[in-house]
Amino acid sequence: MNEITTFKKGGIHPPDSKIFTKNKEIRNANIPSIAYIPMHQHMGKPAECIVEKGDIIREEMLLGKATGFFSANIHSPIPGKVVDIKEIYLPSGMKSNAVIIELAGEFDRAGKSSSKKSWENLSPKELIDKISDMGIVGLGGATFPTHIKYTLKEGFRLEYFIINGVECEPYLTADHRLMLEKTEEILEGIQIVKKILGPENIIIGIEENKPDAIDTMQRLIADKKYDIEVVPLKTKYPQGDEKQLLQSIINREVPSGGLPLDIGSVVSNVGTIFAIYEAIVYEKPLIERIVTVSGSLVKNPGNFKVKIGTKISELIEECDGFHEFPAKIIAGGPMMGFAIHDVDTPVIKGMSGIIALSKKEIGSSQDTSCIQCGRCLRACPLGLSPTVLFKLIEHNRFEEAKENGLFDCKECGCCGYVCPARLPLIQGMKLGKIMSKKLAKKE
Ligand code: SF4
Ligand code: SF4
Repeated sequence: MNEITTFKKGGIHPPDSKIFTKNKEIRNANIPSIAYIPMHQHMGKPAECIVEKGDIIREEMLLGKATGFFSANIHSPIPGKVVDIKEIYLPSGMKSNAVIIELAGEFDRAGKSSSKKSWENLSPKELIDKISDMGIVGLGGATFPTHIKYTLKEGFRLEYFIINGVECEPYLTADHRLMLEKTEEILEGIQIVKKILGPENIIIGIEENKPDAIDTMQRLIADKKYDIEVVPLKTKYPQGDEKQLLQSIINREVPSGGLPLDIGSVVSNVGTIFAIYEAIVYEKPLIERIVTVSGSLVKNPGNFKVKIGTKISELIEECDGFHEFPAKIIAGGPMMGFAIHDVDTPVIKGMSGIIALSKKEIGSSQDTSCIQCGRCLRACPLGLSPTVLFKLIEHNRFEEAKENGLFDCKECGCCGYVCPARLPLIQGMKLGKIMSKKLAKKE
């Protein structure tokens, strides 16, 4: 096995808590009788709704069309009838217009076998167009439209295509299971992206707490004689962040305000690669994803293939509910996810997990004063000074916060995790960014 590597600055080691689901095979979740499909499930402009109340919908039909440069198509996960179109809350607390579909009629794909399409003769442009048509976005959480990420400037020389199989958030095991159960499909997906991007090097980064995934990938790559390297990485949060991942694997730093492309790299999550495989090989739009439902309070936790638009409450029911009502339910991982207040919020493209935590697991939420211990400074992977930023924001000194790197903050949560005073540091960073943007707009 290769040498175990990691990023240099900061980082933390929360208990990985993956034991609940890491050995649970992916199961198909029940088909929802009503699906809630938001038009805003990606970074950029919401898709433009192209259906009306009363319309009859086929499975995988286009419901929302990408508008403008940064947007993505939205398709129907089920056949049925549009019973309403209204604003609903997303897990982030933002609102989005959503198409509500009542299940009816026949499925065109689900439960039927479909034949593989050959893609080897398609041009990079044709492959990108198909990825765009199928509404593929980054499934690691960022939901960046993939067709935009893969559209490189003419003549650009891509040195590294990095596949992110890190899944460093505690509890989550969706990517881990995908790497074990869909290894061949992921490797074919990588060949598709190789044709699009033409990178000089292809590397998969996987944390060392998934030795079975590292081993399975390495064995199949050797069997198929693919030119792909698997790099085992130290288990350290936030190893899966693009900046930290690139530092760990290629020892280069993405500049402040920059992108991986600035250092000759493109990074994609393994879930995204699997979605690309399905989009190209089966012409299947992004209508479902793998979601981990976990936490000590969940009676029967697991990994599920879930139709987008399924209510979180239905997934919890499929896990036989809770031992006791949780103090917090989080959409995504516990470090970067969103606490949700309504379990009828739907699963969306960027939702990798639903985690139910007890009061004991979330710890005391009572904040005291900063004791200048410096732990947040040592934990910040970007070398920022969270305590200084927090104070500047508290005193409405947004311009100075900006100068001190506020917009470099990835909201990874490391500072808040180690803070003995339980200060709401991440909430402070989020608020600071919102206020700073508002002020800039005014000016
Ligand atoms: S949330 Fe921001 S300031 Fe805090 S550790 Fe992460 S990057 Fe640093
Ligand atoms: S970790 Fe908390 S208490 Fe310690 S310096 Fe940072 S903000 Fe202050």
